[in-house]
Amino acid sequence: MKDLYKRFLSSEEWLIREEVWNKNLQGVRESQFTLGNGYIGSRGVLEEIPYDAYPGTYIAGLFDSSGAQVPELVNLPNPIDFKISVEGEKLGLVAMDVLKHNRVLDMKKGLLARRTVYSNVRNERFDYQSVRFFSMDDSHVGVMQVCLTPLDNDTNIDVETTFDLSVTNKGILSEGRKNHIKIMEVKNIRDIYYASVQTFASKVYVNYAGILNCCTGDITQNTSERVLHMRAEKGKTICFTKVFHIATSRDVKPRNMKPHALKAVRKAAEAGFENLLKKHVSAWEKRWIGADVILKPDKELEKALRFNIYHLLIAGKDNGSTSIGARTLSGEGYRGHIFWDTEIFILPFFIYTNPDAAKGMLSYRYDRMGEARRNARKRGYKGAMFPWESADLGNETTPPWHRDLDGRIIKIHTMDTEQHINCDIAYAVYHYGLATGDKEFMMKKGYELFFEIARFWASRVLFDKSKKRYEIQRVMGPDEFHPIVDNNSYTNGMVAWNLRKAFELFEENKRCGEKWSRDLSERIRLSDREAKRWKSIAAGLFIPYSKRKDVIEAFDGFLRRKYIRIKELDNNFMPVLPKEATFKDIDTTQFVKQSDTVMLLYLLDGDFSHEEKRRNFAFYDARTLHKSSLSAAISSIMALRTGDIIKASRYLSYAAYMDINNLSGNTADGMHAASCGGTWQAFINGIGGMSVKDGILRFNPLFPKEIKCLKFHIRFKSYRISAEIFRNRIAITPSLKRAKRGVLRLEAFGRLCEAPVGKKTVFRG
Ligand code: BGC
Repeated sequence: MKDLYKRFLSSEEWLIREEVWNKNLQGVRESQFTLGNGYIGSRGVLEEIPYDAYPGTYIAGLFDSSGAQVPELVNLPNPIDFKISVEGEKLGLVAMDVLKHNRVLDMKKGLLARRTVYSNVRNERFDYQSVRFFSMDDSHVGVMQVCLTPLDNDTNIDVETTFDLSVTNKGILSEGRKNHIKIMEVKNIRDIYYASVQTFASKVYVNYAGILNCCTGDITQNTSERVLHMRAEKGKTICFTKVFHIATSRDVKPRNMKPHALKAVRKAAEAGFENLLKKHVSAWEKRWIGADVILKPDKELEKALRFNIYHLLIAGKDNGSTSIGARTLSGEGYRGHIFWDTEIFILPFFIYTNPDAAKGMLSYRYDRMGEARRNARKRGYKGAMFPWESADLGNETTPPWHRDLDGRIIKIHTMDTEQHINCDIAYAVYHYGLATGDKEFMMKKGYELFFEIARFWASRVLFDKSKKRYEIQRVMGPDEFHPIVDNNSYTNGMVAWNLRKAFELFEENKRCGEKWSRDLSERIRLSDREAKRWKSIAAGLFIPYSKRKDVIEAFDGFLRRKYIRIKELDNNFMPVLPKEATFKDIDTTQFVKQSDTVMLLYLLDGDFSHEEKRRNFAFYDARTLHKSSLSAAISSIMALRTGDIIKASRYLSYAAYMDINNLSGNTADGMHAASCGGTWQAFINGIGGMSVKDGILRFNPLFPKEIKCLKFHIRFKSYRISAEIFRNRIAITPSLKRAKRGVLRLEAFGRLCEAPVGKKTVFRG
């Protein structure tokens, strides 16, 4: 029996393999093998749906709140539902003996292929092969093919394939499993299987239309049956192809949905498997051209990096106004909510490889500014105050409490305190403008977002008359081990930056004297006086330092907390909590979950001297437990920048292998998108030393021992740039879409230089 799908597969460096079936890893594989196209995400579930599998089908931005404390990403009917039984015995990894099994995720082509050889109670063998994809060419279309060959005897088989309408959201302890959809219609319309559902609270219709084709030898026909009884002959392959179309009432008007779906699925099915695959693969090819990173010589690390990029690619959407949740569309962790993970960790990848997608993610925030303004007003502030956790509408969706496994009720403070999300959004808007030069977005949305956030901060700070300084009280920085603190270094540092830049941008816009700038100021009633106040708050905002002024204090009183030395590292070189401390009273210690100060040093790199960075990084690194998946990538960059090469490599590899090796133990709940984006930054901004300053793209590479060369593509303003970076050599080839000539001014190894368009220019360090 031949391997049917081998011919489709890319070369080994693009493949993630499952060689043996390990039941304990089922959930992890489901997340890792997620397929998608930005619109839809489908977990890599086994088609036979073992009893404890967790099928997940999610559409970007589709949330529902019924039966839950807060809205959550809806788990929709599962189109990947394909059960075969042989004389009443289910073909499945859990149910039957397995002689051989492998699954392959082809990251280059967005395909999941599988081959399993089963043996039943009578020792008869069955060769089962499958492949599936969610089209990158038409995001509403999905395709799966299943081929079965009895190897020993003729046999009777039953096949059942539906859109499984019984799926539920996984739910948390206090809520249990939840169904967010009601079934509106299920029907066979000629050879099309049609199902329509509606979410309970958000009232979005989602409809599915599928065509199943069955091919035995020379006979190929569509079948309207969802349960088939068939005779399968020894050595003859029966091949089923299921093509389906999924759309919502947000894509198509409700009354047109059904005819649209029937027409669209017919068209897709008529195009046929090979054509659909071809278009899908060529759409993927285009994605990878701008996104792939090649590194030498460590091919395993390269594959791990590619795996992170793959998951960013299937989460990003070219346009529109949805954003990416902390666990992408690969699982229900954090209920699909959007955090600062998006703006600070994920967005840079999109800004530099697919600016349209980045624009869509920032538009997601802009379009929810009404809600952010209301939120600010409700709390007695001005401007726009964005929620810590956000879903479809832009209101605060952090659950107020959580019941722990031991029955304790844990109050969640983040929605009231992790207000740094606001400077994070402002930071992202600013960097998008800087890197893309997208003046139109900035004029229409970007500046308004930026100014309204500055306005919020100006109303949020307090002036301490006796100390003659501005302060921010009762916040939580990225370090969630210390829930309510005053003058958090990250928050205050970023707010000062936000207010200073808001003033500068206001002045710059005024100087340009254009109508849009006057209109904007008028529309949001922004005066010179208000902007000047931003400047003076920025100058007077307090950042706590140690008494000797040698390190920034993470917040008021941090240095008075108990210091306990980290004595032990685990197998991944990550710190182990010493026995003298417990997580229950961790806030009485100087241990941090992820470091506020290190994060500040990273984002505002140019504002600190090398010595300040070195001292602060060493100080906080000795106190960081990296209990957030966001921590390692940034620590890797800062270790590299401050000369701690060994730590840089350890953290880099922890971040890069986070989900491929399930290092945080909860990949089954979905991929850690911030770690994926952080890993990309660790290579490009860390090792490649890429940054933008004063509108100039800079490369100041810093290589750890194990990496010799990095090749990647980025977009910068209207340039497409191909970069090859070595320790002492940088080769840059810029191109322009609309011109053959031009010069890119850049900085390489600290020197200003020029790279002509269409030519490879080499700079030596
Ligand atoms: C981290 C946050 C993060 C959230 C979602 C938390 O554990 O501390 O910084 O935003 O997870 O990934």
